[in-house]
Amino acid sequence: MNDDKMAFNIEAPDLTQERVGNVGLPGVWHFDSGKPGPSVLFTALVHGNELCGAWALKELLANGVNLQNGKLTLMFCNLAAFDTFDINRHDASRFVDIDFNRVWTEERLSNTDLIETQRAAALRPWVEQADYLLDIHSMHEPAPPVLVVGTLPRNIALGVQAGIADYIIVDPGHPDGVRMRDFGRFGQPSDDAHALLIECGYHGDLAAIDTARFAVQRILALSGVMSAEHLPKEWLEQPREPASKPKVLTVTEPVVAKSMDFTFTQPWQGMELIEKQGTVIGYNNGHPVRTPYDHCTLIMPSLRQLIPGVTVVRFARTEPTPDC
Ligand SMILES: [Zn+2]
Repeated sequence: MNDDKMAFNIEAPDLTQERVGNVGLPGVWHFDSGKPGPSVLFTALVHGNELCGAWALKELLANGVNLQNGKLTLMFCNLAAFDTFDINRHDASRFVDIDFNRVWTEERLSNTDLIETQRAAALRPWVEQADYLLDIHSMHEPAPPVLVVGTLPRNIALGVQAGIADYIIVDPGHPDGVRMRDFGRFGQPSDDAHALLIECGYHGDLAAIDTARFAVQRILALSGVMSAEHLPKEWLEQPREPASKPKVLTVTEPVVAKSMDFTFTQPWQGMELIEKQGTVIGYNNGHPVRTPYDHCTLIMPSLRQLIPGVTVVRFARTEPTPDC
């Protein structure tokens, strides 16, 4: 599918001021209330064409950060990829050398040859100091927002409590690398650091910016670092209620493209519920791809970044929503 099949309605923000930062690293801002409380980290532009989070953080900065407790870090992550952004070829600006959200292993972080591994290594101390991470993304195809929480119960509980999206995806990540949200303390069962990744909707959908603002607002409220009265006024004009009972979907397996010869049987958008086990949803290198069980949900199907080894869709089961 060509980029131009779907309207891209989000302009690239001017980040001239935001990239200055205040800690000696481009695009990194850190604020300390001087009072006890958690250290919260919001990240945008992990992928260079995912602009909704950059808009939300830009607005938050422009409004002036006024913390009541703890610390807050704002990070515009992959500026090198963002700098290549072209609205007519937006998929091409996802990353420069390697997907920034697949490099969070010691081995890849020590690679000094790639733009993204260098940048991730520089940002690492700010990731490691965070007690709460909200990593803000958007999606290749139009679909409802989903909160991606990993597999640890504390993150599933926070996701349910936050009510940022109607769907919570419980998943172990991707076969082709480790995400920031699974790195270090965030992935340790015995730690108490929390990490959520919000997929705010289609990359070019203006509604994705609203979802990014709402996600930021909810984590600021739940972490207690900043009260609502200090948020940008326009964020509060149309108050939004948290989702009361998000649907929890557990990813059971990814479908990984074996070659460039991968097709779907339908233009799946994501979150489709396939009733029958064995339904053919695509062809992978000539072989049918079948749903592995009844009532299987398709998570983020997309061929926009198709290369051998990339995840093109994931299968998920519905779980009872935990009380918390
Ligand atoms: Zn992304």
